[in-house]
Amino acid sequence: MIEQVVRHATGHLLMAEESTCGLQGSRCNSCGEYYFPATGSCTRCCGTDLSPSFLGDEGVLWSWTVQGFLPKSPYNSGETAESFQPYGVGYIELPCGLKVESRLTCGDPEQLKIGMPMRLVEVDYGQSEDQVLRTFAFAPAGNAVQEKQ
Ligand SMILES: [Zn+2]
Repeated sequence: MIEQVVRHATGHLLMAEESTCGLQGSRCNSCGEYYFPATGSCTRCCGTDLSPSFLGDEGVLWSWTVQGFLPKSPYNSGETAESFQPYGVGYIELPCGLKVESRLTCGDPEQLKIGMPMRLVEVDYGQSEDQVLRTFAFAPAGNAVQEKQ
């Protein structure tokens, strides 16, 4: 078996707290506003005193659609228009109130319901040269297992 190099395209957006891998954001120490991705300045109060904040790995599906064609550059999964497989994309409302755009593991309109609980997983979404490309996605919380494509 050949060992493949995995490149986590969105690893900088994740952090671990205890044994849970979740989204890494930031929180303004002046007004309490949350941000994802993490930032160094607050657009709410213009403050610059922000701390890294673990945003967790859970949320609810706020809205969704199905990406039915190959996204434009800089998206690069190694797929072609012929090999592309449609996938779900949606906004996940986090417990802190932020809504985060995310790939979904499910692209079946029959299984996606607004308000359903979702959990963060990591998925391999394509291949670039000899690297497997990995990103975070949200899966229906009932079957949050790491998916391989
Ligand atoms: Zn602020």
